[in-house]
Amino acid sequence: MPELPEVETVVRILNGFIPNKTIKDIRIFHEKSVLTPAHLFKDSLIGETFLPCTRIGKFIIFHLTHEKVVISHLRMEGKYFEGQAGRKPEKHDALIYDFTDGTSLRFNDVRKFGIVELKSENDYKTTLPISKLGKEPWDLEANELHAKYKKISGPIKSALLDQTIILGLGNIYADEVLFASKINPKTPANTLSFEECASLIDESRRILSEAIKQGGSTIRSYHPKEGMSGNMQNELHAYGRAGEKCDRCGMIMRKISIGGRGTTYCPHCQPYKNKPLIVGVTGPIGAGKSSVSTILKEKGFKVLDADKIVHELYKEDTVKKELSRMFGKRILKDGEIDKKALLSYVVSNPKEKTKLEQYVHPLVYKKIDEEISSKKYKKVLVDVPLLIGGPLEKECDLIIYIDADKETRLARLIKRNVDPKKFLELNDSFPTKKAKKATSIILDGSGTLDNLRGQIDHLALF
Ligand SMILES: [Zn+2]
Repeated sequence: MPELPEVETVVRILNGFIPNKTIKDIRIFHEKSVLTPAHLFKDSLIGETFLPCTRIGKFIIFHLTHEKVVISHLRMEGKYFEGQAGRKPEKHDALIYDFTDGTSLRFNDVRKFGIVELKSENDYKTTLPISKLGKEPWDLEANELHAKYKKISGPIKSALLDQTIILGLGNIYADEVLFASKINPKTPANTLSFEECASLIDESRRILSEAIKQGGSTIRSYHPKEGMSGNMQNELHAYGRAGEKCDRCGMIMRKISIGGRGTTYCPHCQPYKNKPLIVGVTGPIGAGKSSVSTILKEKGFKVLDADKIVHELYKEDTVKKELSRMFGKRILKDGEIDKKALLSYVVSNPKEKTKLEQYVHPLVYKKIDEEISSKKYKKVLVDVPLLIGGPLEKECDLIIYIDADKETRLARLIKRNVDPKKFLELNDSFPTKKAKKATSIILDGSGTLDNLRGQIDHLALF
């Protein structure tokens, strides 16, 4: 989808062509693209002459003689092309202006989301949709932005995309601006300082100006003109770089979803205020998750291990009471929870197993959350069996997926006295595809501890 710099590039190209062109005829092929009734649109504009066009946000403003104005939004894939008057329309042409000098301007739109609408010089700024737009970064002051953000508790990434506040940042440049300002995209907008708001404005101006200079970014199908591409895609530091090393610090860039929009950031350069760096580890049983824990512990990480937390929980009186109320005295031995008895009871009874999980999992997450928020640690590793799809997945700045070949894993489990049949069951139930999709770091746990250490050193986590 074209963003502000791409639309500015289109406006500059149009201004090399349309001023002084007089409309001889207008042919409409897709009525829904024209928000004004077709006959009115044609009757008002035929005979008028184009003046230089301007831009507000991502709207192209066509100015014509007699105070007439046409606003146009390209949306997903709308494009303007020069053509010859009276020629047969090309595929996906929505509208053609034929000019008296034998040339034409074609509005072509594969996806058909783009629009044109007739307005006048008097009203186009004060009526919808332009009237509700905010100011572009060049017209906005830091104290204004700071005051507006004070009222928004949602994440800054979503606030930057809100065109009623700051106009002109789409998904690509919002990620770039946050990276340049070293602000974590999840940060609640109302917690930003005046200086951070000032930095957002400065970086928005700098990055958008640079993008305009480069002719925009050519990503997917956007081309400012037939056969012409922008160059800004080569200057991007965040957008589209998930899984690659940060240009500034070398840490692996992470992609998460915020408000339904893909968001890429550097967990090290853009730390989340008051929270440690959170690394998660996942992978099939026997692949080497505990080795990852051991190595990261050596490197100063606090390891939050779900199994150990459960073990501690079972010693608490309220938990003991609740579990014996749920499952009977059969799970107690000398007043303590008998883990083996509890497990063998729930394993043969799926309903009871769900009941146990529904009680224990929230307690585990609560403990982990308390530790993460305690400000005691700078770096935390969470080792949780159901990391992917669980509530902690989003919290992680990095997710390490560790795998090992099946023979290695089986051999390790036999060493731990796990029944091979049980192994195959666990092996089949692990959501490999989903887990691999959620992470950009895949380590091989088949080799020695030193080999794994080498792979982890490569991640630049410290
Ligand atoms: Zn970085």
